[in-house]
Amino acid sequence: TTLSVASILAESAVRHADRPALHFAGTTTTYRELWDQTRAYAGALRARGIGRGDRVAMIVPNVPDFARVYYAVLSLGAIVVPVHLLLKADEIAYVLRDAGADLLVAAAPLLGEAAPAAATARVPLVTVLLPASSEAGLPRLEAEAAAATPIVRHEPVSPLDAATILYTSGTTGTPKGAVGSHLSIVEQVHTTLIDAFDLRADDIVFGGLPLFHTFGQTAVMNIALRVGASVILLPRFDPDEALALTASLGATVFTAVPTMYVGMLEAARRSPERPPLRYAVSGGAALPVAVLEAFRDAFGADVHEGYGLTETAPTVSSNPLGQPIRPGTVGRPLWGVDVAIADPEVEDAVALLDDPDALGEIVVRGHNLFKGYLGRPDASADAVVDGWFRTGDLGTCVDGVLTIVDRKKDMIVRSGYNVYPTEVEAVLARHPGVAVAAVFGVADDVRGQEVHAAVVAHEGVALEPDDVVAFARERIAAYKYPRVVHVVPSLPLGASGKVLKRELVAQFTPVV
Ligand code: ATP
Repeated sequence: TTLSVASILAESAVRHADRPALHFAGTTTTYRELWDQTRAYAGALRARGIGRGDRVAMIVPNVPDFARVYYAVLSLGAIVVPVHLLLKADEIAYVLRDAGADLLVAAAPLLGEAAPAAATARVPLVTVLLPASSEAGLPRLEAEAAAATPIVRHEPVSPLDAATILYTSGTTGTPKGAVGSHLSIVEQVHTTLIDAFDLRADDIVFGGLPLFHTFGQTAVMNIALRVGASVILLPRFDPDEALALTASLGATVFTAVPTMYVGMLEAARRSPERPPLRYAVSGGAALPVAVLEAFRDAFGADVHEGYGLTETAPTVSSNPLGQPIRPGTVGRPLWGVDVAIADPEVEDAVALLDDPDALGEIVVRGHNLFKGYLGRPDASADAVVDGWFRTGDLGTCVDGVLTIVDRKKDMIVRSGYNVYPTEVEAVLARHPGVAVAAVFGVADDVRGQEVHAAVVAHEGVALEPDDVVAFARERIAAYKYPRVVHVVPSLPLGASGKVLKRELVAQFTPVV
């Protein structure tokens, strides 16, 4: 069978040979060039003994080499383990050991952490982006590719063979490797293209989401390359650069997490340039309706919010193109993806709730589910019960339309009342001086937890915490409006652009 993630690139190289696949730093790589470079890299990896079922970790930013290495590994029937770019040496070593990596491919700028990690974990290291003149004396994949014989075609795989191991960033304990199959990814690509977003060969897709994460990897790179569209690669998201690049290259599709939308809106206040967007896609975290509306006003493009997770390859549901958007919801499940609401209190079984409007834990089953957490049968058995994957997210599914209320673990219990940060954040986002807000619970002797908000002001606006508290008090019930507002210069963000609430909690928890 050729149902392989590698066939995404291999087949587009035939159908769209001379079309641009990647735009990066002023250069364009065509599909033919990208596949030829990929085949050459695969030849080098094969010469190193990499084959079906082997695991190749990679620490590479959003540059063309990410795509080359990713598809080269997959085209050998091996498993690719893209590593989070911000990890420190010990954390990388943990991933290398946990994944049983046979090789690490690391980009030169990241060798400071990657090289000691490879040494600790005793995993061979090969570099990309290392100039030939470098004195580091490290092996270079490019040089090995020049000396090796390129592969001709990708190796056949079984659809349920592992394709990727993606580590969850570990907000809930030690990182776990979610194993994705060729089937889950390829099916996901096709259903996303049919049910959610139409994408065409002449589309130019913004690629500022990190490719090591499932959202950028599949919802941007894999779906764009499947149809012969091109991707604008941005190694580090800077809103002004993103605005200038998307405008000058004529981006037609913008896919991002909410904090990137906020950044683009700020950049749009500084520059009149606009990309010719057909539509935009948001996911990864809740998009406040105020941000969706402001983006539509500033960029003239509708924002289609979707919902997904690493374990679901990623998209579960979306507000599809061509249908009225329901702001504040994450739309309808994709084809072949079942969504139900379960009793969040029941731990050892998935107890589906009969009341169609009930609030509970979202559970998902379908072809897009991961195969389990690598080497963790217990965690896998906890996560998937009777075929249903527990997402850890609370929500409702009324008339088939899914609304995310919040993560179970982010819910605040203040004086016995449940407070959902997302709802409070959406109100704060309506304050004219607030660019972005994050709401979190801080331990409190009297109330159990107190509701805090960290807010970033629009550029040039002097925001008074008391004014934000008063704004919230007028619009939100007494038990849940934030009593404490911190005006901060910026929010702590993970590499995927999501707000790191645990860091805010740590920062604003009084030391006793
Ligand atoms: P980790 O588990 O590694 O700590 P994470 O929980 O952010 O990180 P991901 O798989 O990247 O893991 O993200 C999935 C989560 O993102 C979902 O469980 C959900 O909480 C959140 N999410 C995704 N899309 C949306 C959305 N549209 N609205 C609200 N939350 C969303």
